[in-house]
Amino acid sequence: MTNLLDLHHVSKTYTRGLINAKATVALQEISLTLKQEDPTILTVAGESGSGKTTLAMLLLGFITPTTGQIIYRGKDITALQGEERMAFRREVQAVFQDPFAVFNPFYTVDHLLSVPIKRFKLATNAKAARAKMDEALTAVGLRPEDVLGRYPHQLSGGQRQRINVARALLLKPRLLIADEPVSMVDASLRASILETLRNLQRDHGVSIIYITHDLTTAYHIANAIIVLYRGGVMEAGDVDQVIKSPQHPYTRLLVDSIPWPALDRRWGTDMIKAREAGSSSVGCPFRSRCPMAMEQCKTQPPLYKINKTQAAACYLHAGHPEIAAERLTELLPVRTQIEA
Ligand code: SF4
Repeated sequence: MTNLLDLHHVSKTYTRGLINAKATVALQEISLTLKQEDPTILTVAGESGSGKTTLAMLLLGFITPTTGQIIYRGKDITALQGEERMAFRREVQAVFQDPFAVFNPFYTVDHLLSVPIKRFKLATNAKAARAKMDEALTAVGLRPEDVLGRYPHQLSGGQRQRINVARALLLKPRLLIADEPVSMVDASLRASILETLRNLQRDHGVSIIYITHDLTTAYHIANAIIVLYRGGVMEAGDVDQVIKSPQHPYTRLLVDSIPWPALDRRWGTDMIKAREAGSSSVGCPFRSRCPMAMEQCKTQPPLYKINKTQAAACYLHAGHPEIAAERLTELLPVRTQIEA
């Protein structure tokens, strides 16, 4: 079966200025695969500047890769036209950080939900449209009678974010890009929204790329994780394995700062910012902050496969076999493991 999503060596570089142009690498050599027959939740974790939002924009087709290819169900998304492009727009949905941003204060929830129904011709009459709204709202744990007919100011942040998820669900997506979906929601509601996302994967077969700076929520929701730092993969694998036994010094730093088991604090942000100065542009991107740095780290480390479900880009694991970037994804879906 054709894969749902294939990223082949995707990089994105931004160039600023015409004279003495400066290039910033936002994302470097990312390869991954999601299988259609095995819907999963993959976390892409990283702090600000790690490239995770650039990845979200690329996956949604809002920007194009500088090099590499993004293949959705066998087609390069930059080449999609007409009906194929429309199908991509319908099947790949997004839920963003700010549950307030998509709401026009002058329109009711009904209007917000009716727009995609009309645009994608999902219903032939008002009754069928209402049935679709009811179905989507119920699926995300809302009672239609509590929210339909209401204006944004009459809803809580948690209700708004669930409506955003319902809006995406109306289109029966195959892939949901959830970019920090709970970071602006009250701590008390985070767990239930994460559970809603997990239900989408389990009950509706939607694959989810969960993008976050928050390892705590990643641990609660995901099957697999990729940890990004300065646009590159530092560590990846089964989420349980990576968080319980991190192998990259950067991941260790992040995990050490998790305030277990609370969902209402964020990990490491202050410490990370404080140590940001003096970053290296060559060799291991984490070198200037790494307590284990050595001479060898002045060259870029490859990814080493540490066990069946975990790999790290760090010379501390040089005794393990190297794994090519395009094979990294074989470690990711929990039920798919590569042989040692
Ligand atoms: Fe630290 Fe070197 Fe490993 Fe980079 S490659 S994380 S600098 S030990």
